Amino acid sequence: MAEAWTGAGRLDPGRLRRVVVKVGTSILTHPGGRLHFGRMEALVRQLADLHGEGREVILVTSGAVGAGMGRMGLTSRPRTLVEKQALAAVGQGLLMQHYEKLFAEYGLVVAQVLLTREDLEDPRRRESARETLAVLLGWRTVPIVNENDTVTAEEIRVGDNDTLSARVAALVGADLLVILSDVDGLYPRDPRTCPGQEPVPVVTELGPDLWRGAGGAGTPVGTGGMRTKLQAAAICMAAGIPMVLTSGHRPGVLAAIGRGEVPGTLFLPRPRAVPAR
Ligand code: GLU
Repeated sequence: MAEAWTGAGRLDPGRLRRVVVKVGTSILTHPGGRLHFGRMEALVRQLADLHGEGREVILVTSGAVGAGMGRMGLTSRPRTLVEKQALAAVGQGLLMQHYEKLFAEYGLVVAQVLLTREDLEDPRRRESARETLAVLLGWRTVPIVNENDTVTAEEIRVGDNDTLSARVAALVGADLLVILSDVDGLYPRDPRTCPGQEPVPVVTELGPDLWRGAGGAGTPVGTGGMRTKLQAAAICMAAGIPMVLTSGHRPGVLAAIGRGEVPGTLFLPRPRAVPAR
């Protein structure tokens, strides 16, 4: 199989047939947790254009807990897991209601896919999830994936949507994973404590220095941080899938990626990795 990236740290637009896009809570919600409709609209319009270019698009979305917080009038993430699970039950429906409405404006059908870690690890359930996603893509719908937070206890969770999106990309043999975050790429050191650095354009090796620089957890509403992005990159690299980490605040970011540009950091699979498909 020819590769979806070129030697110059660019992507080959003609080879990006199946694209997984992950968007985090910090992009989708206001600091207090309410859904940010302007950003959701901009995201959906760009996804609709990628789809209109003939690509298959899967969206991995966070924001269920955040939207639940907003709906319940909470301003900070609750501490107990069971409260987060309950908030996800409130927020997931709201999230889908908005996606359904926004994608429908472009004539697109969405399909909610809620996964647990077991669905991705147990061979029979994994195959079933893979087949269902294949049918949904064949029907030209836009599968919208999240973890099934409401029913997943701590020890059986994927836990963060960066890792979830990489596992989904590997499951469906995607040509690219795009992680839309509130940072515009991977920095050598935590940019919140060491300003004035440029993001690394291309990463081909996840050495100990990168993990050390990745720091800890993310924002008050999200669960990620750089560590889970690197974990996602490790999964993609092992599966032979390129991954772009970039800012979801950058206007037209997905259109640029559709043209083969990489506005952020491109993580490339190890040269001898076996392609996932
Ligand atoms: N599944 C969680 C949610 O929808 C988000 C997990 C994450 O942000 O990584 O709120």
